[in-house]
Amino acid sequence: MSEENKNNNKNNGSEYEDVCYICRRSERVAGKMIHIPNNICICKDCMQKTFDSMEKMGGPFAGMPYMDMFTMGQPPQHAEVPKNQKLKKKKEEKKAAKNKQPEGIFDIKHLPAPHVIKGTLDEYVVGQEFAKKVMSVAVYNHYKRVLTDTGEEDDIEIEKSNMLMIGPTGSGKTYLVRTLAKILQVPLAITDATSLTEAGYIGDDVESVLSKLLAAADNDVEKAEHGIIFIDEIDKIAKKRNTNSRDVSGESVQQGMLKLLEGSDVEVPVGATSKNAMVPMATVNTRNILFVCGGAFPELEKVIKNRLTRSSSIGFTGQLHDEFDKDENILQKVTTEDLREFGMIPEFLGRLPVVFSLQAMTEEMLAKVLTQPKNAITKQYQKLLALDEVDLRFDEEAISAIAKKAVEKKTGARALRAIIEEFMLDIMYEIPKDDLIGRVTITKDYIEKKGATVIEMRGSGEAKLLMQRDELPDKTEN
Ligand code: ADP
Repeated sequence: MSEENKNNNKNNGSEYEDVCYICRRSERVAGKMIHIPNNICICKDCMQKTFDSMEKMGGPFAGMPYMDMFTMGQPPQHAEVPKNQKLKKKKEEKKAAKNKQPEGIFDIKHLPAPHVIKGTLDEYVVGQEFAKKVMSVAVYNHYKRVLTDTGEEDDIEIEKSNMLMIGPTGSGKTYLVRTLAKILQVPLAITDATSLTEAGYIGDDVESVLSKLLAAADNDVEKAEHGIIFIDEIDKIAKKRNTNSRDVSGESVQQGMLKLLEGSDVEVPVGATSKNAMVPMATVNTRNILFVCGGAFPELEKVIKNRLTRSSSIGFTGQLHDEFDKDENILQKVTTEDLREFGMIPEFLGRLPVVFSLQAMTEEMLAKVLTQPKNAITKQYQKLLALDEVDLRFDEEAISAIAKKAVEKKTGARALRAIIEEFMLDIMYEIPKDDLIGRVTITKDYIEKKGATVIEMRGSGEAKLLMQRDELPDKTEN
């Protein structure tokens, strides 16, 4: 142990209390600590329990309750607690929590207004203002229709608000739908349109997504019938353009989905994804299920630009093309005509009346994704280290540097997690080694592998530059 650490240890009465290494209770709560080498303090209770369990287990180290340090602040629970009792309690707690949950939204009085839905989405989703607004209104209308139960027999039949979402990878398509389902407390099933193509036999696949939804609804058919189904990569089932051979696979999948989108009774295996003599079946009506289709639609921009250029004046075409090239929000100008040109069949588009686009993530948006949402990834790491009583900070410049790196990867917000996880691994490994570390600041230099993090020791007020990043190859490259 360094001289400095020893000094710190002696002084610690002045600013910091000793904390038990095992149960994490402070000196105030657990009483006087026993100091052992490596600057570790252990309370008398834990010391006694350690000896007791060693005695019970027989060996010199057997039963050492080192894992108990993860109980963080809880008094240590040793072998005396019967395992099944603990499990039972958990189950009961779960049940109680479930009963406490608000009643869902299937009561017109509890249907949140569009601005409330958007306000909640704002807490989680950065940017995408237009998409959030469109979705909030569409969802509101959809559930209003469901709740008031307007049907074909009514004079004015409210149409289903199935949606088509166009946006590049990592712009938050799946995340938006997930968040929406969470807010509204409705079951959600996510599937990939490409899996529908691969299976060939469409019927089975269509049912498999309903099975997923049914499972998400705890096999409650009524609940499932008010759920949301998100079909990703919908652009992959477009008819192939510019080919002479007649491509039917994508088209037939679109055809196969028509009935489902519109509303029909489907026999769904319960608890399995395929029909089988042994599996019980349930009939699910898809009329009130909200379908959201999403896709990146590469090259759709070209189709839009061509249309805009064509419909503009003749003569200045070249100039106009340039103008549209600079327009970053060209996807917002999409029409059903463009989507037809792209390869979606008119009947399919007709069943997705709400069409909107998401923006590509900019550096600024990515920086916000890192820090602003309720469950932002930096907040998650801060919480983890706070459990070790370490204050984790990110310099503003470091955040920008991470966002910049993510932009280069061209996978939107998806790149962020990989980048941050790579450099946080060293921090999460090294910091818990030394109890005296009180604060870690991630710097831009650290992100760029040019420098170190700033580490401050408890009580000393002294900042050190430590933890140079190893010259490891960048795992997130490629
Ligand atoms: P995709 O558009 O490809 O479906 P995802 O929704 O799967 O992208 O996004 C990947 C992850 O990136 C999400 O889980 C979420 O954590 C994060 N993310 C993406 N977009 C946003 C956003 N606008 N705001 C906050 N987080 C986002």
